[in-house]
Amino acid sequence: MKVPQYSFVCVNNHTFLSPLILKYGEFVLRSNGQGTPRYMFAINDEVYDEVDKMLASLQDLKQKNGQGKSEILQKIFGIACDLDVDGSEFQIGSQPKCPECGSRKMYSCDLPSEPSTEEIQEITHDSWQKLTPTAKLERLRNRLEKLGYIDDKLM
Ligand SMILES: [Zn+2]
Repeated sequence: MKVPQYSFVCVNNHTFLSPLILKYGEFVLRSNGQGTPRYMFAINDEVYDEVDKMLASLQDLKQKNGQGKSEILQKIFGIACDLDVDGSEFQIGSQPKCPECGSRKMYSCDLPSEPSTEEIQEITHDSWQKLTPTAKLERLRNRLEKLGYIDDKLM
């Protein structure tokens, strides 16, 4: 998928290009390790829909800080994505990693004066799709518990 590149400036004032999408229903995920970007068209992604329905079915989900279910879904969706080659998890909406200093804290992000695109791979869900429904629910609940969205593992 060809994705537009934005010009990022990190907090240490390094400028670099990295793909980004600011359209509804489309996301660039980045791995927590080396920051590899992956594309996802959420509206056509059946696993995104599946995890969304799983979240909606949980009676004991707490919506902290006024966060909506879609925000929680985006925060935890990496559990349903194949890991990066370095073994790290992908996350929706995470910041890119500065190639010079490794910081993920960005000062600014703008469309560059000369538009360009980068070809990035789509996110995959092979390992998630091999799990049983019980194992999927367990993985989801474990992550929600860790982040404080549910209290215990009672099912
Ligand atoms: Zn930097």
